[in-house]
Amino acid sequence: MRNNLNIILLGAPGAGKGTQAAVVAQELGLVHIATGDLFRQALEKGTGVAAQAKSYMEKGLLVPDEITIKMVLERISAPDCQSGVIFDGFPRNLKQAEALDKALAQKEDAIDKVVYIKVSEKELLERLGGRWICRKCQTPYHEVNSPPKVWGKCDKCGGELYQRPDDTTETVKKRLVVYFEETAPLIDYYTKAGKLLEIDGEGAVEEVAGRIVRGLRKEAIR
Ligand SMILES: [Zn+2]
Repeated sequence: MRNNLNIILLGAPGAGKGTQAAVVAQELGLVHIATGDLFRQALEKGTGVAAQAKSYMEKGLLVPDEITIKMVLERISAPDCQSGVIFDGFPRNLKQAEALDKALAQKEDAIDKVVYIKVSEKELLERLGGRWICRKCQTPYHEVNSPPKVWGKCDKCGGELYQRPDDTTETVKKRLVVYFEETAPLIDYYTKAGKLLEIDGEGAVEEVAGRIVRGLRKEAIR
C-alpha cells in the first residue's frame, strides 16, 4: 500500500500552471518538480544524467525524451520526494507519459491524478496576447486589462504604442495550436486511465488553487 501522492499538472501556456503547482505543492506537502528547474540544475551540476542533458543544451539542442525521463526519475527517488510530487512541465507528450508510467510501475509507484487546468482559448489569448508597449517610456498596456485612455498612445508620455512580435495575437495563436496538438493525446491517455481531473482555470490564483486542492482531496487522497 502506497502512502505517497503523485500529481501531474497540465495546462496551456498562460493557464498559470507553474504558479498553481507551487501553491498546491505547499498546501499538500508535495515536492514541486518543474522540468525547467531540473534543466537549469543540470547545467550547474553536470554529473551523471545531468551531464548528458547538459551536452545537448550547450549545443542548443532539445534534450531527448530518454534523458529527460532519467533526470525526472533520479529527482523523484531523492528522500525529500517520499510523500509525493507534483509535476509541472512534464510529461510533454505521450511517449514521456508512457515511459513515466512504466518506470513508476517498476518501483510499485504510480501517478494518482492528472489535473488539467482548463482555460478557454479566448481567455488565453487575452492573457498572452494583446500587450502593447510605449516606444518612449516602455510602459506596458493591455488591450483588455489595462488599455490606454487614447488608443495607440501612452497615457504617461503620449508616446506611440507598439507590439512585440511575440505578443501579437497571431504568434500567440500559433503557440497555442502547437501546445494543444501535443497535449490532446495526453488528455485522452489520462482520461482513459480514469485519472484526469479537469479544473476551471479562470479566476483569481487563490480561487483556482482552492478548486484544485478540494478536487484532489475529494478524489485522490486516501
Ligand atoms: Zn510612454
